[in-house]
Amino acid sequence: MADDCLFCRIVRKEIPAKLVAEDEHSIAFRDINPQAPLHVLVIPREHVPSLDQAGDAELLGRLSLMAAEIARTEGVAASGYRTVMNTNAAAGQTVFHVHLHLLGGRAMHWPPG
Ligand code: 5GP
Ligand code: ZN
Repeated sequence: MADDCLFCRIVRKEIPAKLVAEDEHSIAFRDINPQAPLHVLVIPREHVPSLDQAGDAELLGRLSLMAAEIARTEGVAASGYRTVMNTNAAAGQTVFHVHLHLLGGRAMHWPPG
């Protein structure tokens, strides 16, 4: 836990968030500035700043599996969805607590911007 980390504060429920799913390892909540009809952030409870500093395969794998489960629950699995992890400045990472974006409900473009 990092005292001054925004997402650790959401994990501790010090800051409100629209929770979508949670278990003992991970939580998922709606992005405050959604970029698609469905935009959920899936994060570990443990503070890991970015993918570049991650080493726990299960911690990372659980984020993908929770995103896939939410995609099914939210009804976008069949039509399709995108999961994205921005890492460090050039990729646009702004919150340094590792998180997987789950985006769905509209067509996605490739390559991403
Ligand atoms: P990044 O740019 O680091 O990949 O993604 C950070 C995401 O966190 C952004 O999409 C941003 O809208 C979202 N975000 C930032 N602050 C908050 C907040 O206080 N609550 C929620 N739910 N999302 C936030
Ligand atoms: Zn944190």
